[in-house]
Amino acid sequence: MGQGVSRRTFMGGTLGAAGLAITAGATSGGGHADAAPAGVVDAIVIGGGLSGLAAAKSLVASGASVVVLEARERAGGRVHNISTPRVGATLDAGAEFIGPTQTHIAALAREHDVRTIRTYNQGDSVFWNTDTGTRMPAALPLPAEFSTLQALPALARAQAEALLPFPVGEPWRHPDARRLDAITWKQYTDAVTSDPTARMLTSVAMSAPLSVRPDEVSALYFINYIAASGDENNPGTLIRLLSTDGGAQESLFEGGAALIPLRMAAALGSRVVYNAPVRAIDHAGPVASVTTDRGTFRGRRVIVAMSPAISGQIRYSPGLPAARVGLTRGYHMGAVSKFAAVYRRPFWRDKGFSGQVFGNGRPIDVTFESYADNRHILMGFISADAMRRLDTAPESQIVRECIANFVDYFGPEARDLLDYGIFKWDLEEWSRGGPVAVSSPGTLTRHGPALREPVGPIHWAGTETADYWTGYMDGAVRSGQRAAREVLTALR
Ligand SMILES: Cc1cc2nc3c(=O)[nH]c(=O)nc-3n(C[C@H](O)[C@H](O)[C@H](O)COP(=O)(O)OP(=O)(O)OC[C@H]3O[C@@H](n4cnc5c(N)ncnc54)[C@H](O)[C@@H]3O)c2cc1C
Repeated sequence: MGQGVSRRTFMGGTLGAAGLAITAGATSGGGHADAAPAGVVDAIVIGGGLSGLAAAKSLVASGASVVVLEARERAGGRVHNISTPRVGATLDAGAEFIGPTQTHIAALAREHDVRTIRTYNQGDSVFWNTDTGTRMPAALPLPAEFSTLQALPALARAQAEALLPFPVGEPWRHPDARRLDAITWKQYTDAVTSDPTARMLTSVAMSAPLSVRPDEVSALYFINYIAASGDENNPGTLIRLLSTDGGAQESLFEGGAALIPLRMAAALGSRVVYNAPVRAIDHAGPVASVTTDRGTFRGRRVIVAMSPAISGQIRYSPGLPAARVGLTRGYHMGAVSKFAAVYRRPFWRDKGFSGQVFGNGRPIDVTFESYADNRHILMGFISADAMRRLDTAPESQIVRECIANFVDYFGPEARDLLDYGIFKWDLEEWSRGGPVAVSSPGTLTRHGPALREPVGPIHWAGTETADYWTGYMDGAVRSGQRAAREVLTALR
């Protein structure tokens, strides 16, 4: 810890609400630029998403004084509840699902009394291939047809490469890292199969979780993503990544996933400062100085808790090492929206459908049945180029196109919606897309260690820095807890 003030605040936790002279009004989202702190805290956490909140929670539990600086007027980041305009149904605009081995987010949900319900996974799912839907039992991860067999070698090879002893979270240490990071996922899979349907399947297997085109992402990145879909005792598998029962889409949260970060932020109280976008971090001296639209905050350590793709929006002084700059430039966010339509009845169930679709429909290529407030909801993902095309389209056009997809997939009853909701993540200044940032070829092998390597007093959190379940809420929590441990060690 080094400094006297810090030792007192850290050991005794005496400064209460981060030890700052922030007025009560500073947490209410008033947006004043006069909330400058008087003291120095042990740690400044930048970002009130799950990773930042998890970091702050761990630090506070250890007696450290903490302030969380959040650019938005709300906590949660990529986990966000919205309400439909007409019937007021709660929708998960961002993260929604939780599955086996995601124990860190599960523990927080339990602690904050947020319950899960199983995702509906009965009847038939639809495999959509160029204007034709094929029914397949919802329990199967892939359609049982010839093209699936053609896709299997590519997927099986990726799975084999992702199996232990894969260096999960450190893919640059994989023995074949250079080869796998020199090519995109498209090049990796195209080399194994030329069948168009098989190529579509290998593409959707990647774009469903990442929301990017197969030629945008390093093969090594996605193979690490597969390896990360597990935990220390259960090797990551593609099946767990993509499945509903037994997989990452197994359950959803009653009342919306955002209840978790909102309750975490409430527990942190006035330590969380909203409407405080961080513009600059000066880390030249023994105490870092963080400039926001609500004043300047000073702390012994700083945790930047956000995607590497947006951490570069902050000005660092002195500048960051070339490896970190290269890393942030090599990552970019996926492009995604969720469109959700609210219905009086789950008419798809009546017709024996699970509500799940995957394939090459546009703009929605993947759907699930969602659920909120006793309402029946069909939710569809708009991803990658389909989303980019619609980023600036009028909402009426997006709704028309999405409903046309639902009609194709489930029948004309899809036109009788009560309400709908949509949220464009690409246009969010403090997210710039979702669900996760991916790396272009060459980034991980050249700059990978800079993902987590602290720079002076600055530590890096965010789901992208997680080992297991990177890209997911669980990974965000894991990353925040890891960054908090680093800070506590440094303060000791
Ligand atoms: C459409 C969509 C669907 C998803 N589905 C799932 C799912 O089903 N299951 C799952 O587990 N995960 C899902 N995810 C991913 C999940 O939401 C993320 O992995 C997780 O929320 C990331 O948390 P984080 O704290 O790492 O980052 P973020 O949530 O992005 O938090 C970063 C925070 O930093 C703030 N910030 C940014 N810049 C600044 C700045 N300069 N100053 C101050 N604050 C700043 C942001 O406002 C934000 O609050 C989904 C995401 C999206 C978008």
